[in-house]
Amino acid sequence: MSTIVLKLSAQDQQKVHDYYDAQAVPTNAPGAVFMAKTPHATITSYKSGKVMFQGTEAEQEANRFGEFEAPTTTTSSKGDKLPENFASLNVIGSDETGTGDYFGPITVAAAYVPEEKMALLQTLGVKDSKMLTDAKMRDIAPAIMEAVPYSVLTLHNDKYNKVKEQGWSQGKIKALLHNQALRHVLSKIEPTKPDYILIDQFEERDTYYRHIQEEKDIVRDRVLFATKAEQLHLSVAAASIIARFAFLSAMDQLSNEIGVELPKGASAIVDQVAANILLSQGEEALHSVTKWHFANTTKASRIAAKNRMI
Ligand code: MN
Repeated sequence: MSTIVLKLSAQDQQKVHDYYDAQAVPTNAPGAVFMAKTPHATITSYKSGKVMFQGTEAEQEANRFGEFEAPTTTTSSKGDKLPENFASLNVIGSDETGTGDYFGPITVAAAYVPEEKMALLQTLGVKDSKMLTDAKMRDIAPAIMEAVPYSVLTLHNDKYNKVKEQGWSQGKIKALLHNQALRHVLSKIEPTKPDYILIDQFEERDTYYRHIQEEKDIVRDRVLFATKAEQLHLSVAAASIIARFAFLSAMDQLSNEIGVELPKGASAIVDQVAANILLSQGEEALHSVTKWHFANTTKASRIAAKNRMI
């Protein structure tokens, strides 16, 4: 549970109101002009231009609208015990994004950050991606990709929907992509070997390896798992930014192709945009740009059916 307050321009504040329009709730809090509730955050907007985000997803929500200092309530990382000097070791880190977004692909990136590259990455502004806006990540990702060996994989919606329909879990999909991205980076840096590999943890180690047991080439040597790993080593922070950059680029391209600005996340706005696509372009078009198994599909169909009746 954390609280983040952004001070926004009138124009940016309006963007917040528009974004959460479908989730707006009445408010009589002193000075408040707008309030909305998502499943995991409450957003309160004030006359003064301040907007407060509260809840377990306060950071993710606030991150859509501006930059902020990390809240002091950040919970600690869980997972493998790391060597004491871990942050200064030569590490390949990996992370993914897009897994909670109805529209667009899943992207996974791995990046190798040896000690001699750390100062450069810090100068570029590489840090915990949850503290960076999408705009900032778009801005610095190309320079990171110039600076360090990396691999980024994009699992597009058609392929994602196909394997999901075959019964693959998201965990399995992610594990396969992480393993593949790590293999790419390991072969890029050969004959150099990293001190460690750190995976931003999304499954227990045993489950992760069970998912990829049929792969030919399984990366096991010196692999560590930890949650919030982007706080533990710059390589994971860099990988996370690269993955986000690939995701945002893919969203731009999909939006262009379908002629609609596709929103991120899985909120009520997403349902509305999906319903509009259903009505104007049909089911196949929607299928081609979404993670079809999400509950948004059913909600969008309901909205579209209602609109057809009118
Ligand atoms: Mn992650």
